[in-house]
Amino acid sequence: MSKAASSRVIVRRGPEKGRYDRETINAILDRALVAHVAFATSDHEIYCIPTLFARVGDKIYIHGSKASRTLRALAAGAPSCVTVTVLDGLVLARSAFEHSANYESVMALGRFTAVDDDDERLAALEAFTETLLPGRWSEVRQPSRKELKTTSILSMPISEAAAKVRSGPPDDDDTPDAEIETWAGAVPLEMSFGTPVPSPGLRDGIAMSESVRRLLDAGPARMRS
Ligand SMILES: Cc1cc2nc3c(=O)[nH]c(=O)nc-3n(C[C@H](O)[C@H](O)[C@H](O)COP(=O)(O)OP(=O)(O)OC[C@H]3O[C@@H](n4cnc5c(N)ncnc54)[C@H](O)[C@@H]3O)c2cc1C
Repeated sequence: MSKAASSRVIVRRGPEKGRYDRETINAILDRALVAHVAFATSDHEIYCIPTLFARVGDKIYIHGSKASRTLRALAAGAPSCVTVTVLDGLVLARSAFEHSANYESVMALGRFTAVDDDDERLAALEAFTETLLPGRWSEVRQPSRKELKTTSILSMPISEAAAKVRSGPPDDDDTPDAEIETWAGAVPLEMSFGTPVPSPGLRDGIAMSESVRRLLDAGPARMRS
């Protein structure tokens, strides 16, 4: 089993749920659409911002307006903590105490830096689009020079990270509580995409994009949260 990259990311509560191998960490990052990025400003104010993100290789990318307070603070080198969570279901025990959730989560520590290289910036923008919806990048207009210029793109290496994973039934099957006449088990959470709503300005006769069709055909199995 892989070891934690540092003492800061060793899972201490429920250590059997901790995973440190890159394969597991990457798989969870790739399931999630939203990350929460925590940081402190130079005034020592703490914020935790939800944002879209993309993983490319060993890096997490985020992007936004150059005017964003968050992106400016992170680009200036603020230490950061990035978490992603995929909620897989409810865990219902006989006792209130043993109720839980099935989940996969990752916490990565590090510092973001601005991505200045044009090729890397374009690759990151492609990754953002493809992470949202695989196949979308080739269906849409590519970013203009102006759009590229006004977008701040930051990356953080995934070098100090841990995953924590819970799955399966509640923990009270082998306890005296199993005698209680209350249903216990796990209820999987499945999220699926609904019926697409065409943009009000969409011209008549434009067929649904292939990427959207594939998304709908894939059903709940492509669930991400
Ligand atoms: C699912 C999701 C995906 C997003 N993806 C992106 C992305 O890819 N790029 C991007 O730049 N932004 C994204 N955002 C918006 C992001 O959360 C911030 O609002 C944005 O980055 C502006 O940050 P700021 O620090 O400049 O905000 P400011 O406007 O400077 O923040 C000022 C105050 O506004 C409030 N605030 C700011 N953001 C939020 C929020 N999200 N919810 C509630 N209160 C808030 C807080 O009180 C904050 O202290 C996303 C938000 C969500 C929920």
